[in-house]
Amino acid sequence: MKKATQAVHAGKRHSVNQGGVVTPIFTSTAISYMDDSEVRYPRYFNTINSQVTADKLACLEESEAAIVTSSGMGAISSVMLALLKPGDHVVVLEGLYGGSHALVLEEFQRLGIEWSFVAADPDSMRSAFQPNSRMVYVESPTNPLLRVLNLKEVASLAKSNRAISVIDGTFATPILQNPIALGFDIVLHSGTKYLGGHSDLVAGAVVSSAERIERLFYDAYLLNGATLAPWTAWLLLRGMRTLPARLRQHEADGLEVAEFLELHPGVARVHHPVLTTEPELVERQLRGFSGTFSFELATDEFDRVSRFIDALRRFRIGVSWGGVESLVISPARPRAPSPLVRLSIGLEGAGLLIADLEQALDAA
Ligand SMILES: *Cc1c(COP(=O)(O)O)cnc(C)c1O
Repeated sequence: MKKATQAVHAGKRHSVNQGGVVTPIFTSTAISYMDDSEVRYPRYFNTINSQVTADKLACLEESEAAIVTSSGMGAISSVMLALLKPGDHVVVLEGLYGGSHALVLEEFQRLGIEWSFVAADPDSMRSAFQPNSRMVYVESPTNPLLRVLNLKEVASLAKSNRAISVIDGTFATPILQNPIALGFDIVLHSGTKYLGGHSDLVAGAVVSSAERIERLFYDAYLLNGATLAPWTAWLLLRGMRTLPARLRQHEADGLEVAEFLELHPGVARVHHPVLTTEPELVERQLRGFSGTFSFELATDEFDRVSRFIDALRRFRIGVSWGGVESLVISPARPRAPSPLVRLSIGLEGAGLLIADLEQALDAA
C-alpha cells in the first residue's frame, strides 16, 4: 500500500463504529467480562483508541507492532530503562534531543549504565563499541543541524556487536523514512511534532517487532504507566491521516525558504539535508524532507540573532515544531550564544514567510 493510503485507512476498526468511517473515542476504564478467565487489567488493555493508533503507526513504519505512549520522552525512557541494566554500555550519538541527552547524563549515571557519545561518522561509532555495549542510540536526521546518518551502516555495526539499534525517528516521520527496513530494531517517535501536526497534543510511540513490543509492554509500559489517554490517541490518529499531505506542503515551502536563505548575504550557512547531505544517501533512505531546518546568520554579534528573531512577524517564537503555524527559535541560546536559528515552516504559504524573513534580516 502507498503511504497516503495507509495513512488514511490502516488501523481502522469499523466493527466498533456501526458503519462510521471514524473510530469513536472509547473511554471506559472498567470492563465487565463474560467469565472470570477473561479478566485483564483494563486501564492498559482495553484502550481501543491506543490500539488503532498504534496499528496505523506500525503499518506506516513497515513494522509488526507499536505501543503509543503519553509523550515522546515516555517512549524513550520506556525503551532505555526496560532494555538496559547496570554495567551495560550504550553508544549514543552526540547532540541528541535535549530530553534524551539529559536522560543519559542524569539517569544512566545513577543506574550504573555506561555510555560513550559519538560523532555522526561511522569511524567514531565503530571505535566506541565495548564488549558490554548493549545498545546503539541515534537520531537521523538530527535536530537542529539535520545531519543524516548512514542508517544501514549503523544498524549493521550494531548487529555485528550484538547491540540493539534504536533510532528516534521523530524528524522524518514514518512517511519519509523507515529505519526498520534498513535493519534497525526499534524506532521511537514523538507524536507531538509532525504526527499530531497541529501543536495541540503530547504523545509518543515505540515501533518494533511484535515479540519485542510484547516484551516492552510487560517490562516497561505496564510498570511505568506512560499510557496515552483515548482522546489524545484519537487526535494523534486524526493527525496521522493527513500526515503525507501536510508533509508534502511543509517540504515544498521549506525548500523555497531554504533556497531563499541560501542566497541571502546575511546568512552564513543553511542546514537542510537537501543542501548538506550526499544525494546518494538521501536517495537511499529518505523519501523527502520535512519543513524544519536551521541556518546561521552571518554575524559574530549574537545580539543580532535576537534582534532578527524579534523582528519576525509571521513566525511565532517558540520551542517545538511540526505544526501548521511557523515557529522560530535559537536552539543553542539557552546554553551558549550562537548564530543558529531553527525554523519550523508551517502551512501559511512560502511567499509570506520569505517576505517576513527578508524584512527581519534587513532590520537586524
Ligand atoms: C520533541 C522531541 C522528543 C520528545 O517528545 P515529547 O513528546 O515532547 O516528549 C523526542 N525526540 C525528538 C527528536 C523531539 O523533537
